[in-house]
This record gives sequence, C-alpha cells and structure tokens, in this order.
Amino acid sequence: MLANFIAPDSKDSRLGIKARYRMLVDGKSVDAASGRTIDRVSPGHTGVVVGTWPDASADDVRLAIDAARRAFDTGPWPRMSGAERSRLMFKVAELILANQEDLAVAESLEVGKPIAQARGEIGFCADLWSYAAGQCRGLEGQTHNNIGDDRLGLVLREPVGVVGIITPWNFPFIIASERVPWAIGAGCTVVLKPSEFTSGTSIRMAELAREAGIPDGVFNVVTGYGDPAGQILAEDDRVDMVAFTGSVRVGTKLGEIAARSVKRVGLELGGKGPQIVFADADLDAAADGIAYGVYHNAGQCCISGSRLLVQEGIRDALMQRVLEISSKVTFGDPLNEKTRIGAMISEAHTAKVHSYVEAGVAAGARLLLGGARAGQEHGLYYAPTVFEGVTPDMTIAKEEIFGPVLSTMTFRTADEAVALANSSEFGLSASVWSTNLENALQSIRRIRAGRCWINSVIDGTPELPIGGYKKSGLGRELGRYGFDEYSQFKGIHVTLGTPGRWFN
Ligand code: NAD
Repeated sequence: MLANFIAPDSKDSRLGIKARYRMLVDGKSVDAASGRTIDRVSPGHTGVVVGTWPDASADDVRLAIDAARRAFDTGPWPRMSGAERSRLMFKVAELILANQEDLAVAESLEVGKPIAQARGEIGFCADLWSYAAGQCRGLEGQTHNNIGDDRLGLVLREPVGVVGIITPWNFPFIIASERVPWAIGAGCTVVLKPSEFTSGTSIRMAELAREAGIPDGVFNVVTGYGDPAGQILAEDDRVDMVAFTGSVRVGTKLGEIAARSVKRVGLELGGKGPQIVFADADLDAAADGIAYGVYHNAGQCCISGSRLLVQEGIRDALMQRVLEISSKVTFGDPLNEKTRIGAMISEAHTAKVHSYVEAGVAAGARLLLGGARAGQEHGLYYAPTVFEGVTPDMTIAKEEIFGPVLSTMTFRTADEAVALANSSEFGLSASVWSTNLENALQSIRRIRAGRCWINSVIDGTPELPIGGYKKSGLGRELGRYGFDEYSQFKGIHVTLGTPGRWFN
C-alpha cells in the first residue's frame, strides 16, 4: 500500500447516516408514485449505503413542472419586490451555514470528497446565496431618453419563467448554488434535477429554502435518472429554459431538444484546462497550484488544470517539485480530516480513468507516478498520476479524463504556449504562472477560455462570471451576468404628445 494512502475507518459513526430523502414538490415532501428508490453506496466505503432517494418517473416530474408553472403564473414570487425576495434568500444562506456540518458530511459521503473540502464548499455556497440575495434587489432595466422629444424608451427586465436545472455529481451543492439563487433571484421558479449519484444535499437545500419561507412551488427538486427525469424537464413545453451542467454528450442532446422548441438553454460542459508555467514563475507556488489544480476533487472537476504546459529549461526543476507533492499528498478516507484527495464517483468512471492512463502509456507518454488504483478493498481510489512527454495529438492531451491524472507538455515561447493552450475543443478555464504580470496578462488575453487565473487555479468568487468558450458551453453564470441568463428584456416604446398620422 502507498504510504500516502489513508485507509477508511469502517467504524466511523458518520457512516451510519443512511439518510432517507423525499423529493420536494410544491412545498411538500413526496416519494415517486411508483415507490421506486435509488440507493447511494458511498464510493469511499465499499457496500455502505449512505442515502436513498426517489426514482422519479416522467409523470412525477410533470407534477413538479405543474407546481413550478403555477407558482410562476399565479403565485406571489415573481410579483414580489426584489427586497422581499432578497430577505428570504438571505435566510437560506443563514440556514445553510447553520447546517454546514451535516451538509458537509452528507456531501462528503455521497460524492466521496474530503470532509474538510466539503465543509469549505458548503460555506462557499452560503456566500453564493448571500451574493445573489444582495444583488437581486438591484436588478434593473433601462430607460432611453434620447430617442426623440416625442418618444421615451423603457427596457423592462422580466424573469424568463420556469427553469429546469440539471446538475452533475461532482459538486452538487455548489453547482445548484451557482444556478438556483440566480434563477429565483431573477423571479423565476425552478425544478432542479440533481445527479442520480448525489441527490441528497440538493433536496436538503430545497428543504432549507422552504424553512426560510420561499413560497411553495418556487424551488422544486425531483430525483431520478437522466432519462426520463432530466429529459422530461428539457422536453416539456411548460419549461421556459433549461440550465444544464454536465457532459458534452448530454449537453449537446439537450441543446438539440431546446432548439426544436426554441427554448432558452444554458450549458456548462467539460474542460481540459491548461496550466502554463513560464520560466520566471515562482516554482514552489506553481508546483503546489499544479497539484491542487489536477487533484482537487480527485480530478473530477470541470475546471481541473489537467494539462501542464511548462517552458523548456525549467521542466526538470518544476517536475521534481510536482512529483514530490504528488508522492506525498494524502489520499483515501473522505471522512479523515487529513485527506486531500478522496474517492472516485463510481466503478465505471474509475475504470474509464484507468483506460485513459493505459492509452497514455500505449501512445508513448512517460508515466512518472501512479497510474493504478489503490485501496480497492475499501472503495474507489485512484493514485495521483503524472505523465511527461505528452504530445498534443495524444488522447490524454485532448480528452477530459476527469481523474487525478496530469498530462505534461513543454513549450519554448509564449506564442507556442498560447497556441498549445488553444489547441483544444474546450475553453472552460486556464491558468498562467509567471512573475511578469504583463506577460501573464498578454497570454491570458489570447487564451479562449471563460475562467482564467494568474498565479492561482480553481479560485472562485460569486462576483466573477464563469462559463465556457467553444465546446465548454453557452452562457454565463454568477456575477451580474448570471441574472441576465434568467431574464427576458422587453422594449417598450412610449409615445409622448400627439402621434403623427399614418393615414393623412
Ligand atoms: P452527465 O452529463 O452524465 O450528467 C449530468 C446530469 O444530466 C445528471 O443529472 C444526469 O442525470 C443528467 N442527464 C443524463 N442524461 C440525460 C438526458 N438524456 N436528459 C436530461 N438529463 C440527463 O455528467 P456527469 O457525469 O454527472 O458530470 C460530469 C461532466 O460534467 C463532466 O464532463 C464535467 O466536465 C461536467 N461538468 C461541467 C461543469 C461546468 O461548470 N462546466 C461543472 C461540473 C461538471
């Protein structure tokens, strides 16, 4: 066994949680009409069921859409003042913080992520809710007082309507918190369909919203599989917009469904984030950031810095540092406070990650570390893995591996680094490490990605927009831009005085 592996403690009392969740529809907790359920076995603890939630049918989902439609068309929420909505949403943020530990334990067990990381994420989500709560009372339109003496133009901001939100398994609480508060803050009503792997904490979020006083039908949660539960949300004509976060494969399909009914769609999809390290970078800080960027959430992160692009000349010095960290970083038991890298989401996904590693070896990349599962008798764990000598044509340079696997390439000039960074079908995130701010900014300017960092990685704040270029998606979340996603803008021409006659 690797020295840096922390074996899970099967006697940990938190494994006894076995939470039984019910969906939230129109303010009521409900099961699927069929009574069918989905059990979640914690990926970090073989055989331990940590949560059970309903397996919704198409009809169950339609009931939630009914509720959201009613709440939008005739309920109080879209008609409330921004100030009233803001007050209730601040309450949700407070309740999230008051329940931080329980939520973190549930999130850690369902996803397999380290408990310390989960705790931080729940705190961040409270901040997302607070930010959206604060901003939503300032949502405004425009007036145009310069379109002639006899005319005045008004632009009204209105909510889009009923929004179907579909989320993946890697950051269930964060991704729902990046979308739901912006959608309801804009005055919309929501049906959230979390991943079938990790639905428990999304239900808890909606329960806290109910406790805060958000009216019935505004925030509904249905649980179940992508097809039928997610697909019905995308197809139903009573849903005005679909906001999807997940794979390119499913996102493309939902984009096609939305196009057929001319429905608004937001897509946050995959990535293959480059981390460019220039020779003048602080190498200790860069090595630490590279390790964090690729191992965070066991690499199951859309903004993972999974492509390391290092300037020739410092390659050996940087790789020595990266390997030092990678061989010592603690991985294993998600519930251990010292763990930095937790479990993989599922058996099938772990096997897929390993097949990418095999493809890298077969293509001639040099495997410097890892490349194997670990602690298989305890759960789904994969050792931190580092490749060198990767070339842009290799699968491990191009495709999203979604595991703790670093693919390293080298470059000579800034032009070459930018070209390499852009030689991807994705454009979600990018990092540049350099002590020369001008060089870093000039490089970032030319990189086609929606979320960029200089001398850091996987940083985030509610104020700044996130979203993808190219196949990484459509639309922007967070900041002021995030509210525009869920808003319609109506132009009103007002005639002042006696209008000129068309017919004599
Ligand atoms: P996925 O696409 O398999 O599933 C995402 C969600 O879509 C789940 O809730 C699933 O049940 C649902 N779904 C599946 N089939 C569907 C269908 N036919 N109709 C409607 N809904 C359907 O993705 P995943 O495996 O859960 O997550 C991993 C992917 O998500 C990665 O590609 C990752 O890059 C991406 N991701 C992107 C971001 C971002 O912000 N850009 C964030 C996290 C994850």
